[in-house]
Amino acid sequence: MKAGIVIPSKKDSGQLIEIAMPVSSGSQAFVQLLEVGIDGTDIEINRGEYGEAPPEDDFIVLGHEAVGQIDDPGTTKLSKGDLVIPLVRRPDGCVNCRSGRTDMCIGGNYRECGIRGAHGFLREYIVEEPDFLVPAPKELQTIAVLVEPMSIATKGTEQAMEFHNRSSSPINSAVVLGAGPLGLLTAALLRLQHFNTYVLDIVPRSSPKVSLIETIGATYLDGRESALTTLPQKLGNLDLIVEATGNSTVAFQAISALGVNGVLCLMGVSTGEKPLEICADCLNMQMVLGNKVVFGTVSSNRGHFERSIESLVRIEEKWPGWLSGLITRRLRLDEFAEGLHPTTDNIKTVIKLT
Ligand code: BGC
Ligand code: ZN
Repeated sequence: MKAGIVIPSKKDSGQLIEIAMPVSSGSQAFVQLLEVGIDGTDIEINRGEYGEAPPEDDFIVLGHEAVGQIDDPGTTKLSKGDLVIPLVRRPDGCVNCRSGRTDMCIGGNYRECGIRGAHGFLREYIVEEPDFLVPAPKELQTIAVLVEPMSIATKGTEQAMEFHNRSSSPINSAVVLGAGPLGLLTAALLRLQHFNTYVLDIVPRSSPKVSLIETIGATYLDGRESALTTLPQKLGNLDLIVEATGNSTVAFQAISALGVNGVLCLMGVSTGEKPLEICADCLNMQMVLGNKVVFGTVSSNRGHFERSIESLVRIEEKWPGWLSGLITRRLRLDEFAEGLHPTTDNIKTVIKLT
């Protein structure tokens, strides 16, 4: 069968190869992959900046945002034709992994399909234990590739709310930095909770991203007009900021912009080594006197995937067609390498496998 692979640490090595068909052990389901989304992590892996091949190979099958359909359920309780989303992170036996919280792995030997030490889903078939397959309703099929990125947004915002709930004051303004797929999905989650939501990016107002932001009742902020550090003067106390650009300078500016009792959630991975001169005393004092919480979040567990599906259903009901609007490019598997290069105005690229 065909698979889209990269050779980790080799720049622009994305290519299509022929690999062996997987064989089910019986307790595993045989899954036909339908679609796979491409994100910033895939682009970084193809740039040779991130990613690790499984020990037995010198390449990795890419793709971690996937939706598939049960072809043969084996002895699992799944049924032929069921729509399923495979989990990304695989346990290493540590205390968190054993309790299903692989996203909080402390052992450090977790694997991530398509990212680190395990093949991903950019291929025609996989065999998988039911523990790693999350059923999704059929009506979500065309946007189900968004379940995985939404699970990341779900984990980040849930944890941010836990930290926010230290204080009794409500969230008056929530700011999302970056209007990529992750930023937009996060903004939709915040709007589902009726928060006054702003999304900052540096695109012109004519960009389709801006209409997506406005459709859900959020407000677009052009970062070229208003610097992040000046936002508190305009918007008042920034109670919640979600960093989804992966730009480390932006992340540090966000600490200063964060309001009293504010929570800053860092979701964007920065693979470079960019230095930054900061006023360490200022930041430290602002954090202490402002009761600020800054936290990083990565990966997601089965519960996040399940609640991601619930939120996607609610978003689809509330703003029909909005989620499909995030998928701006669909390519065939033999064209997948094209999807590994960012293009202007593209939001999410999806690879069709059937
Ligand atoms: C994936 C996560 C993963 C992270 C770090 C993200 O793109 O969505 O599942 O944990 O990259 O590897
Ligand atoms: Zn672990």
